Amino acid sequence: MYDVQSIRNDFPILGRTVNNHPLVYFDNAATTQKPQAVIDAIVEAYSQTNSNIHRGIHTLSQISTTQYEQARNIVQTFINAPKSHEIIFTKGVTESLNLVAQTFGEAFLHEGDEVIVSAMEHHSNLVPWQIVCARHKAKLRFIPFNTAGVLDIEAYKNLFTEKTKFVSVVHISNTLGTVNPIKTLIDIAHGHNVPIMIDGAQSIQHYPIDVQQLDCDFFAFSGHKVYAPTGIGVLWGKEQWLEKLPPYQGGGDMIRTVTLEKTEYNELPFKFEAGTTNYVGAHALGVALQYVMNLGIESIQKHEAELMAYATEKMMEIPQVTIIGTAPEKAGAISFEVAGAHSADIGMILDKQGIAIRTGTHCTEPIMQFYGVPGTARMSFGLYNTKDEIDYAVRILSRVAAMFE
Ligand code: PMP
Repeated sequence: MYDVQSIRNDFPILGRTVNNHPLVYFDNAATTQKPQAVIDAIVEAYSQTNSNIHRGIHTLSQISTTQYEQARNIVQTFINAPKSHEIIFTKGVTESLNLVAQTFGEAFLHEGDEVIVSAMEHHSNLVPWQIVCARHKAKLRFIPFNTAGVLDIEAYKNLFTEKTKFVSVVHISNTLGTVNPIKTLIDIAHGHNVPIMIDGAQSIQHYPIDVQQLDCDFFAFSGHKVYAPTGIGVLWGKEQWLEKLPPYQGGGDMIRTVTLEKTEYNELPFKFEAGTTNYVGAHALGVALQYVMNLGIESIQKHEAELMAYATEKMMEIPQVTIIGTAPEKAGAISFEVAGAHSADIGMILDKQGIAIRTGTHCTEPIMQFYGVPGTARMSFGLYNTKDEIDYAVRILSRVAAMFE
């Protein structure tokens, strides 16, 4: 039994008002709110156990180190990774994606090589590849999508040449809500012996992730989108690939021995974790993932699917609203336009009623260019949202939409 009211009590921020109205938080694709257990873990760490990890023999350093490495094991369980040393802690999905783009580029990309991404990537899975391809004189190719926001799989198949070296694709679009058929994309890439990375920023909090079943080569996500704090993220990679990639940054912890002339690098995962990491954030990420596992990701998925279907149906009843992105399988987010209104105006008016939505380009300007719109308004849901909140938001939205007409 998924008891959303009792779940809401775990999130202190949901009890506050905004502009004298109870907060309706529909900006979960940008970041999620934090349960008390996560907040407590951070307070407890800084008030009771704080000490730098891996370098101390004293008690507090050992506690911090144990918590950090336990968090790695929790991430391993959460995504069913075969080995815990394949889990690299980063500051977020953006850093994870940059890490792979830069190190893979340095080791494997040469003039004339090709990399495939989709045309619906978040800027953080597009710009790093633009930079790296320009540096190595490689070409970036794009999987197109149709007006519903569905990737063209036939076009994807035709993009592969003997020069294709890497594929990197978003699992769930933060703007369109499209759930991409990543298993198919992965199998096609592997049919050409090409490795593939999945940007899981918008799937880790909504869908069960099993990297062994998916058989992708890299999977990346941010903690703050899955009820953990900011400044912590994950890159999972197959050991065989992580071993082949050069280090991303130099510094403490990523070394085995150093002389003035040269350095032997540390083993995985430390080779990619230079300097003092966000060990408190990693510990809190472990607590957040444990929280999600306790609720059950399948139960969360079911609850959120009901919210998505309900909100879509209700929004379609507002004549002035057009939903952007109508793929058959969607999760998390609904982008929309209101006839005659700028999305920023919609966002501002809803905010006056306590409703937090996001407006603008959502770090996906090429998607806006495709639809020929300056921006969209976007509602995005989390595990604590309710149909009552949707009813309230839709009621306000329909009033606002009529006003602009
Ligand atoms: N990829 C996708 C699909 C996203 O939705 C986001 C965040 N909006 C990112 C990447 C970047 O995430 P972060 O800012 O946490 O690095």
